[in-house]
Amino acid sequence: MAEPRKVTLYLGSQCNLHCAYCHREASSDEQGISNKFLEELKRNPPGAIKFMGGEPLLYMDEIRKVVRAVPGAKFSLSTNGIGIAKHLDYLRQHGFQICISYDGAEKDLRGYDPFTDLLDYPNVAVSTTLYHGNTDLGAIMERFREKEKVIGRSLSFFPHLLHVTNEANRKYALTEADYDSLLEQYKKYVGLYLSRFRRFGIRDKRYEGLYQTLERRSKAHYTYGETYCSNRKLRKVDAKGQSYPCLYIRKEKLGKEWLNDQKRLLDALSPACRQCPVYDMCGGACIVSKEHELECRFCKALYTWFKKEGSQP
Ligand code: SF4
Ligand code: SF4
Repeated sequence: MAEPRKVTLYLGSQCNLHCAYCHREASSDEQGISNKFLEELKRNPPGAIKFMGGEPLLYMDEIRKVVRAVPGAKFSLSTNGIGIAKHLDYLRQHGFQICISYDGAEKDLRGYDPFTDLLDYPNVAVSTTLYHGNTDLGAIMERFREKEKVIGRSLSFFPHLLHVTNEANRKYALTEADYDSLLEQYKKYVGLYLSRFRRFGIRDKRYEGLYQTLERRSKAHYTYGETYCSNRKLRKVDAKGQSYPCLYIRKEKLGKEWLNDQKRLLDALSPACRQCPVYDMCGGACIVSKEHELECRFCKALYTWFKKEGSQP
């Protein structure tokens, strides 16, 4: 099978922060990138590779091996930013996009400002986790605006829901009321984005990330068995090249018949997905979430709304 266009490569579980809501599960056998997998990548190079951990900056030797093996790929890494300054020349040289985590919460659970070292870095994307206590999109956008004044350029934030995957992060689980509020806020801000664009042709940067997360989903066209995390365009692999439906909770492995493997998982988790009218956008939501029903309800309402109101900008 030809390598999908994008690969997300899980380097290992080591991290230098201990964020309270993290999904990460420790790995017991971390031996670095296997030569066999490097040879596979050389034979069949993907177009893009995103490095994930744990904290990928703790695995720079492994990253360098992959970059040498597939120098033509586009690279990105998902990082908390600690210690990034000493790697910036290398990352710039190889055109890395830096996906930085910043939640914009009133009390930052990470306790670290990721932007300080990135003032001049050209290609930065921001990933924001929405969790119980951090669901006020207006307040989050306001905090982004304060950051923008410091770094001198605009930032779009790409929000992700917190998925309840263990007892520690259950404390931050989005409640039914949080989901209801998020649904109304999405409608409000994405609605504002759309009406300004339709009336004046203005793409309002403040709301663009919110709009784009939905717009990209509307173009995903998942078929049953594909998920947001593992689909025909995106494979999640560990350092040995093993594929998984989820990189954080690696209980299930995917074989050559990966689509059938994922269909089996979905059939067991959420039989309604097979007939769902928004499956093409949703892809079954987070398949390891312990609050899948709540996520499903939110996704169904949001994607149904977007299909009706928002798919044409
Ligand atoms: S909205 Fe619910 S039923 Fe529909 S695909 Fe997503 S998780 Fe499955
Ligand atoms: S299944 Fe996907 S969304 Fe859910 S925890 Fe794993 S990587 Fe995240």
